[in-house]
Amino acid sequence: MAKAPSPLDTPMMRQYLEVKAERPDCLLMMRMGDFFEAFLDDAVELSRITGVALTSRNKDSDHPIAMAGVPHFSFPGHLPKLLAAGKRVAIMDQLEDPKEAAKDGRSLVRRGLTRVITAGTLIDEVDAGGGANHLVAITASEGVIGIAALDVSTGRFTVEEAGSPPQLALALSRLQPSEVVVPEELRDSPEAMARLANAFASIGASAPISGLAAYAWKGGDARRFLCERLKVGSLDGFGIGGGEDHLAAAAAAAMRYAEGALRIGGDGSLRLHETMDGGGTGALAHVRALTRLHHAEHLVIDASCRRNLDLLRNSRDGGRDGTLLGAVDRTKTAPGGRLLAEWLSRPLAQAAGIGARHDAVSLLVAGDSLRADLRDLLAEVYDLERLLARIATARGNARDLVQLRRSLAAAERVRGSMRGQPLPALLAEAAEALVPDAALAVEIARLLVDDPPIAIGEGGMVRDGADAELDGLRAIRTDAGEWLASYQRREAEACGLAKLKVGYNKVFGYYIEISKANGEKVPPHFVRKQTLVGAERYITPELKEYEDKALGAEDRIRARELALFGALRDRAADAVGALQRCATALAVIDVVAGLAEAARKGDWCRPVVDDSQELVLEECRHPVVEQVVGRGLFVANDTALRAASSEPQVPRLAVITGPNMAGKSTYIRQVALAVILAQAGSFVPARAARVGLVDRVFTRVGAGDELARNLSTFMVEMAETAAILNHATRRSLVVLDEVGRGTSTFDGVSLAWAITEHLHDRIGCRSLFATHYHELVDLAADRPGIANLTVAVAEQDEDVVFLHRIVPGAATKSYGIHVARLAGVPATVVARAREVLATLEQLNVSLTERERPAVRTDAAANGRPAAMQLTLFQANESATLQRLKALDLDGVAPRDALALLYELKKAAQTEA
Ligand code: ADP
Repeated sequence: MAKAPSPLDTPMMRQYLEVKAERPDCLLMMRMGDFFEAFLDDAVELSRITGVALTSRNKDSDHPIAMAGVPHFSFPGHLPKLLAAGKRVAIMDQLEDPKEAAKDGRSLVRRGLTRVITAGTLIDEVDAGGGANHLVAITASEGVIGIAALDVSTGRFTVEEAGSPPQLALALSRLQPSEVVVPEELRDSPEAMARLANAFASIGASAPISGLAAYAWKGGDARRFLCERLKVGSLDGFGIGGGEDHLAAAAAAAMRYAEGALRIGGDGSLRLHETMDGGGTGALAHVRALTRLHHAEHLVIDASCRRNLDLLRNSRDGGRDGTLLGAVDRTKTAPGGRLLAEWLSRPLAQAAGIGARHDAVSLLVAGDSLRADLRDLLAEVYDLERLLARIATARGNARDLVQLRRSLAAAERVRGSMRGQPLPALLAEAAEALVPDAALAVEIARLLVDDPPIAIGEGGMVRDGADAELDGLRAIRTDAGEWLASYQRREAEACGLAKLKVGYNKVFGYYIEISKANGEKVPPHFVRKQTLVGAERYITPELKEYEDKALGAEDRIRARELALFGALRDRAADAVGALQRCATALAVIDVVAGLAEAARKGDWCRPVVDDSQELVLEECRHPVVEQVVGRGLFVANDTALRAASSEPQVPRLAVITGPNMAGKSTYIRQVALAVILAQAGSFVPARAARVGLVDRVFTRVGAGDELARNLSTFMVEMAETAAILNHATRRSLVVLDEVGRGTSTFDGVSLAWAITEHLHDRIGCRSLFATHYHELVDLAADRPGIANLTVAVAEQDEDVVFLHRIVPGAATKSYGIHVARLAGVPATVVARAREVLATLEQLNVSLTERERPAVRTDAAANGRPAAMQLTLFQANESATLQRLKALDLDGVAPRDALALLYELKKAAQTEA
C-alpha cells in the first residue's frame, strides 16, 4: 500500500522547515503574499502571545498543520509583545520578485532567512524618537568584568569595566539593557546565571540573556575584529589598553551578536523589501566609534537612588511623568532627548567638565533670541541618529533621505545662527562639528520628490527632469494613452469598424475587441486570443510590440528609480561618519538650549561647582513637585551642609522631623536632585547654589507609606542601608527617609540612631535624614555637626496649616489627627481622638513606656568622651540626671570637676 504523503512534505513546508532547523531558537515567520505566517508550534506560540487566530493548513486532511499569521503591515504592532515575551523572531522573506519565479515557471518563490529580530538588536523596528535600546555584552576575566553596550538603532557604542558584582549592577541599572549577551559557558552555568539574575533583581530589572560561542570572546581575535569593523589600526584611540582584553572581548561580542541578527542577506545588495537589506560586514556600518567610560569621571547613582528619585522613569509605570527628566526636558529632537537622559543618568564628577556645560547653558540663558532661533531650527531636525543608522545599513527608504535633507538644511541654518557669536568651548566645538554635507543635501533635493512613498520598489521617488533615461521611460508611459487612441482610430478606419476598441487586462495584456456580429470584417493580421459571449479579442504584431515596450517601461522605470535611489543612499552611507558627528553636535546644542530654556523659564540659577565640601542651596525648589503644586505655591527652602566641618555652625548632617505630609521627603529629595542637576551641567531650581563636588549620591527611602510591610522589605531596606554605610565616602551625599520603620519601634529607632552616628562620626559626609523618630533629635545635643530641622506649622484654634517651610528645631507634635481629618476620617472619630490625646498628654506617659529599654551610645567605639542616653526613651527622667548617671568620674580631671558641677546645677535649675 502506498504511504500517504506527509502534509509537511510539500515544497513550501520544506522551505519553512529547512530554515526552522537552522534557527530552532527563534519563532519563525515566513512572508507569504501580504502575510507573515508561522506554522506548527510557532503558530501556537504566535497565537498565544499576540492573540491572532490559530488556524490550520490542509484543514480537511488527516494531518492539518497549525498555522497563524499577521498581515505584514500590522506585524510591527505585534512585535513588541513577542519580544516582551522573551522571543527572538526570525523573518523569512521572499528573495525574489514572485514574477521572476513565474517567468522561470517555478511555482515556489525563493525565500530565505533575512533577519532575526531580538529585543536588543532593533534597528528599523524601533519607534523614531524613542529612548536608547541597549544590547549589553558582559564577560569576566580574573575578577574584572567587561561591559559593552551597543545601541544598534543609533550606533552608540560604549565599553566600561566593573570591578565587582555591585559595580556590574550599577552599570546595568544605568544602561537598562533590552538584551544581554554572555559567553556560552556562562549561559550554561547555573551559578553564573544566578549571579546575573541577582544583579538584575537588585536593580529591579530583567532582560533576556543569550549565549555566544567562546571564540567570539577571545581577546586577540576580538581586537582584530573590532579594528577591522571600526576601521582603525589599534584600539588605543578608544582608550582600550593592551591589557584590557575583557573590554575588547565584550565589545566584539556585542557587535558580533548584533551582526548575526542583522547579517542576513549577505551581499548587502539593494532589494525590493527593506527587510531584505543589510547584511555581511555592512550590517553595522553605522557603528563607527567605541567610547570608553571611566567611572571616576562620573557621579555614581545606583539603582535604588534612580528609583527613589524618579530620575528617568517613574516608579509607577516606568513612564516619564513625574520624573526629573520629564521636568527638565525641553529638547526639540530625539537625539537631544536621549543625550539629556544620558547626562542626567551619568552626571560628571569633575569641576572642569561641569563648568564647560554651565558656560554653554549660561550663554543661551542670557541670549534669549539666539536660544529661540536655535530651538525653532532644531524643531525641524528629524531623529538623525536613527535615520543614519537605517541609511548606513541599507535599510533606509526615500523618505529617510528626504528627512535627512531637511535635517541638514536645518543644521546649516543652526550653524549660520551660531556664526559670529562668542561661543564657549562646548558650543564652539559643536558648531565646528556641524558640517552638514551641503552637496549631499543638494543631490537629494535634485533627485527625490518632496513626499516620496514608503516603499522603495514601486517608483514615484525620483523627480521628473532629474534623469534623462528615466524621463525617456516615463515618456513612453505617458505617451501610451495617445498612441493607443491613435492606433485604435487607425485600425477602426482600416477595417471600417467604428466600434473597434483597444483594451487591456492583466492576464492577456493588450487586445482589440470586436463584436461577434462583425466577425466577417476582421482582417487577417488579427490573431484571435480570447472568445467572450458576444465578442472576440485579438492581438496584432504591432500591438504586441507596443505592449512589450509599454509594460517593459513600467518595470524599467522601477528598476531605474531603484538604481538612482540606491546610488544616492550609498553616497549618503559613505558620508555617515561625518553626518553622525553632525548629529551629535546637534544633540549637544539641543540639550544645552533645552537646559537653558528650563533655567530661564523656571528662574533657575547657575550653581558654583567646586572642590569644596559645601552644599549650600538658597531658596531651592523641587523641580517636579513644584510643577505639580504650581509655581508660586511651592515653598522654597534653604540648605547648608559642609562635610566633616570643623565649624560648628555648619552641620554635615541634618535630622528633619515633622508631621506626615509636611514636606520632609520633598525637601531632602530636592537637595539630591539639585546636586544631580548641577553636576549634570544644568542650572538648578534655586536662587543661589554652591555644590562641592559629590562622588556619589545615596538615597534610602523607607517604604513608610507602603501598606504591606514585611520582613523581606525590611531586609531590602537594610541591604540598601548597608551599601550606603559601606560605600559612602566623605564626598558623598546621603539622603535617608524613614529608615528603620520596617521593624519594631525599638529596633527601628536604635538602628536609625546608630546609622546616624556612623554617618556623622565615621563617614562625615553631607547627609539628610528625615524621620519620624523624634528620639534622634537628641543626637544634636552633643554633636555640633548635626542640626535639627523641622517643618513650620501654623496653628489656629483647631486649624493646622503645614507651611512647608524648613526651620531649625525639632517637631513638637505629630499632627496625625490633623492629617486624619484632612484625609476624611469621620468627624466623630477625629473628635474622640482629640479627647484621648489630651488625656494622654496630661498623663505625660507614652503607651509603651514600660517596654522601653535604656539605650546607650557606644562611647568606646566612637571614641567620644561622654556617653549619653536616649532621653525620650525615659520620658520621666531629666536630662541632667541622665548626664549625671552616665558620667565617668574617673575620666574627669579634678580641675574640670568643679566647672562640671556648676554646669549641672545650672542645667538642673533650668529644667525645673
Ligand atoms: P512628608 O515627607 O513630610 O510626609 P512630603 O514631602 O511627601 O511630606 O510632602 C507632602 C506634600 O506636601 C507634597 O506632595 C506636596 O504636595 C506638598 N509639599 C511638600 N513640600 C512642599 C513645598 N516646599 N511647597 C509646597 N508644597 C509642598
